[in-house]
Amino acid sequence: MTTAVASSPLGLASPARGLECRGCGARFPLAAQHACFECFGPLEVWYDAEAFAKVTRAQIEAGPKSIWRYAGLLPAGQDPAQRVTLDPGFTPLIKADALAAEIGLRAPLWVKDDSANPTHSFKDRVVSVALTAAKALGFRRYACASTGNLANSVAAHAARAGVPSIVFIPYDLEQGKVITTAVYGGDLVAIEGSYDDVNRLCSELVETDDFEDTAFVNVNLRPFYAEGSKTLGYEVAEQLGWRIPAQVVIPMASGELLTKVDKAFEELVASGLAVAPEGGWRVFGAQSQGCNPIATALHGGATEIVPVKPTGIAKSLNIGDPAAGIYALESVRRTNGWMDYVNDEEIRDGIRLLARTTGVFAETAGGVTTAVTAKLVASGKLDPQLETVIYNTGEGLKTIDAVAGRVGPTYHVKASLKAAREVGLVS
Ligand SMILES: *Cc1c(COP(=O)(O)O)cnc(C)c1O
Ligand SMILES: [Zn+2]
Repeated sequence: MTTAVASSPLGLASPARGLECRGCGARFPLAAQHACFECFGPLEVWYDAEAFAKVTRAQIEAGPKSIWRYAGLLPAGQDPAQRVTLDPGFTPLIKADALAAEIGLRAPLWVKDDSANPTHSFKDRVVSVALTAAKALGFRRYACASTGNLANSVAAHAARAGVPSIVFIPYDLEQGKVITTAVYGGDLVAIEGSYDDVNRLCSELVETDDFEDTAFVNVNLRPFYAEGSKTLGYEVAEQLGWRIPAQVVIPMASGELLTKVDKAFEELVASGLAVAPEGGWRVFGAQSQGCNPIATALHGGATEIVPVKPTGIAKSLNIGDPAAGIYALESVRRTNGWMDYVNDEEIRDGIRLLARTTGVFAETAGGVTTAVTAKLVASGKLDPQLETVIYNTGEGLKTIDAVAGRVGPTYHVKASLKAAREVGLVS
């Protein structure tokens, strides 16, 4: 079906045509709406397939070294002057031979290192897309409900744009996420409760008159926010020479990132931009034992998610009632992937394993992904003969407490040759 569109609220060049319910398929105009009026299901952006088909590799390759090289496949931001952005993206894809050898993978292994983004997590991608849409839709204040990294990113984007912000977090987050948010000067609200409580409050606030002009990137702007995650699929494929890897391992909080990487691969193949691997790609999800509702549903053969009360050190992934959980299950089942989870001790080991073998210091979420990857190889779920990409979504300096006390100086000596000799540094 094609629809002639006279003008789009997101700008004339936007390929987005509307919002579509992920539950019942009902369609709505492009607006700050996140739930279906018919069935309350979550909404997703739908695009003009003909516009997508016109995007070429050459166009993308000639674009900026940021997510905006994929503007033709995103809902907003086609006009550079109208973007609200720190220009995230185009982060390193690192060949991880030593890690592969250590965990028993015999095919190429890559780490997509998204800690290299401006506020050091993959959230800069989703925030740039959501806030660019928010600006086009006329919002005057930027907000979010966050497990930490999203708050960092929204506060920083708002500071760059000169727009007020108000971000909401659970009160017990890591200092490395609280301080790195507060420094940007917007309002920071610590809520006595879990992320799920914070999210519920934000869903109520957004309906009030006082918050009428406020864009909550992951509440009323959620359909646009989610699209930003697709760039983590596009980029990996482009960096591999327009090939989609056979296996990807992705950390899950709401499960949105996982579903959107899968969607990005589908779009690339549909528009002829990238080649699928023989036998298709397989998507794997990683959670922590303290918050594993999606993996538990998969292991139990369920199609519904039973919410949990999150615990444990992987706080950025601690969403007990994951909004995209059932869609993550669908992606993993459809692609013949799997999900698994690891405990706090294994997460700490995962952080050190990744650091020691690749030089990448990840936050706890990266420890989850690395440790789950090792577990999936050991259990035979991940095929050791197939090319694999694992996603490191955040920076170790923000969750330094996770490994503090476990690592430290190898030697502690006085500054003299004699002392160095005594501890065996020189003979
Ligand atoms: C938010 C976040 C995720 C997961 O995001 P979802 O899309 O909600 O699943 C993964 N890693 C880090 C570091 C995050 O901050
Ligand atoms: Zn619906």
